[in-house]
This record gives sequence, C-alpha cells and structure tokens, in this order.
Amino acid sequence: MKQLFLQLRISKSVAIPLPLMVLIALLNTSCNPIFPVDNSSSDGTLQNAQSLQMDGSSQKLNGNLAAIGAFEVSESFRLRVSGENVQYFFLLLGDEEDNVAGLVAGGGHPESIVDYSVNISGDYFLFIQYDPKSAADARTAMVELDEQPAPAPSPPRQLVQLVFTDGFLHSPGLWDPVDGTNEDLAFLEAISDIVRNEVAQKLQDIFAGTPIEILHDTDSTSDEPVSRITFSPERVLADQSTINDSALPPPDPSRPECQIRVVFGEVLPSGTTLDPGNQIHDDEAVVYVGSFQGRGESCWTSTVGSINSVVLTLAQTAAHEIGHLVGLHHVEQIDLMNRSATLAFLRDLEFARGQLQLDRLRDGQIVSDVFTAVVIDPDVYFQAVFGTIPADVEP
Ligand SMILES: [Zn+2]
Repeated sequence: MKQLFLQLRISKSVAIPLPLMVLIALLNTSCNPIFPVDNSSSDGTLQNAQSLQMDGSSQKLNGNLAAIGAFEVSESFRLRVSGENVQYFFLLLGDEEDNVAGLVAGGGHPESIVDYSVNISGDYFLFIQYDPKSAADARTAMVELDEQPAPAPSPPRQLVQLVFTDGFLHSPGLWDPVDGTNEDLAFLEAISDIVRNEVAQKLQDIFAGTPIEILHDTDSTSDEPVSRITFSPERVLADQSTINDSALPPPDPSRPECQIRVVFGEVLPSGTTLDPGNQIHDDEAVVYVGSFQGRGESCWTSTVGSINSVVLTLAQTAAHEIGHLVGLHHVEQIDLMNRSATLAFLRDLEFARGQLQLDRLRDGQIVSDVFTAVVIDPDVYFQAVFGTIPADVEP
C-alpha cells in the first residue's frame, strides 16, 4: 500500500519541496541589533532600562523595555500591563554576564493580571510587544507592579489533547479534488488510522522530557485543564491580512497557478498569535491538513511523497502550534518555532534556542524583524514557567 502511495505521487508530482532558503529570502528578514527603541529616553539596553516601582501604582512606560528587579526562587510579583497598542508582554531573565540579552521567562496578555512565581533566580525585565501596525508615537504602556498577595504554585505540566476530525486525511485533507483519483482518495482513507497513530507517537517523542504531555484521542482525561489541537481536513487560504503560520511557495514563473498562500495552522480564535507565559491552560489550535496539498497536479507538494512525509509534516506543524499554545514565539533559527518550519517537512526539527522574530505586513508582503536581544531558550522557558519538570515526564 505504501508503495502504491509512492507510485501514485512521486511519478506524477513535480518536486516543489518549497526550499527553505528561498522562502527565507522571500520573507525579507531584517535584523535589529538591539532592542528597537521607539520614543523611549533609554538606549534600548537591559542595563539602562527604566526601573519600575513595586508599589502598585500605574507607571507610564515609553518604549518597550523596563527593569522589574532581582528575585530569588520562590519569590513572586504581580504585574498588569495595559495600553492601546500592546499586543503581548514578556518577562525576560537577564543573562548572567551583563544583561545584554534577555531570556524569555514568561509573559501575558494586556489587561490581565499575571501573578508570577519565580522559578529561576536573577534580574527580571519587562518587554512589551506592540502592534507592529501602530505608529511609533502611539506606543505607550501603563504598567502596575506589586507584590503578589498569595503566590500560587506553577502548574507542573500542560496536557494537550489530540483531536483528529473525521476525514482529516481525505475530506479533502491531502486529496486533491482537481486532479486526484478515486484510488488516491481510497488510499488516503485507508492509511488514516496509521497516520493518526504515528503522528501521536511522533508528538509524544517530540515533547518527551518537557512539561507538555500529549494525550492521544483515545486517552482518557482527568479534571486537569487540557489544551486541544485539532487536525482538520480543511484547506485554508490566507487572506491579505493573514501572517500567522501562512506561507507562499517560492516564485516559479512556469507555475503561476501554484502561487497561493495558505494557512498551515493557527491558534484559535483566528488571529491569536500565541499564549505568552502559558496563561491559558485550555486553549486550542488547529492544523489545516488540506493546506498541505497543492491544488492541481502541477502544484502537488512533497508532503504527499510518502507516509513518513505525511507524518512528519502533520506532527511538526502540530508541535509548532502547541509551542504557541504554551507561549513559544517564532524564532529566526530553523527549528520547530521558525515560522516557515511547517515547510521543512522532509527533515526532523526540534525546539532549539533562538532569537525572537516578529512578523508584519508591508505592502502585502510579510516582513520579519529579528530581535537579537530577546532570546527564547525552550529549556529555560519551560523551567521558568512550569518550575521543575516532574519526574514522570522525564524521557
Ligand atoms: Zn507560528
């Protein structure tokens, strides 16, 4: 059966593995050497960041950076950030040397109160992510910092339930209603259970040793809050304003019909980028299986080259979205949290240390800014947000 699959596909498919390097060039990545400063009087470095008073007062923050203070393990503080153009905020842990870069150690949504329990001792900073569409002079945040009345223990883990919608692989899923055959359709239906089990296994492997526990759809759930990731058969086209986890195939003048930007997956509700600091323990994301099948034979993608490719593609896309659900941002480096990682479906990726990458639209094109001083190290992040990883999820 697997052989049939290979014959059906490879013999007819034109190779468009969507080369990553071309895609990255296409995304027009630019680098900012330090924290970009808007209208702040500071120089944009952690050392000289504006200091916040820990007295519960409402403090105006110009720019995107402020010093919270030095804290020891088991100390805690309460933080509330508001402001018209504030998208998210992040807590940074200064590096041990000279606070040139900050490691993401938590975060939150504007207007919400975040009670933060310190799991790693060090200097803490606040980094504000403003709406990239906002004018530079309209980027002001109000911050309240106070002692936390009664610190709650960090949740030791995050459960994530996998949900495979009926027909996820063939309705249309990876079946192409333009040029696919009835045999293709029957084959995809026949391998659905295998793919489902292998995707679950792959995800359990990817998250082994992390505080994220993957529940297969047949697993029973407890009273603990559970996030969900759904494998949907839908094919979703990106609209003009979509930048989350969507991508355009590399330009190919011989196949203009394939230049269609699709969305591979997203955090729900649509338009949510991530859950900074894993503040929400029952949030949801979706993988659009249908988006991986190019419509029309000349646009077929290498996803459908083998069962292994299908499993790798779907599992790694799900891992990327789960990363967003627990607060991981896009990074510049090619790993699971690269925004184009979903296209790198022919090799294994992992969660690695990388620099924050923010996407915005400029003249209809996605432009990515890299914040070299904001570093995401998944191991540090997981320890900071969840505390010590419980023994039962060690690899
Ligand atoms: Zn993403």
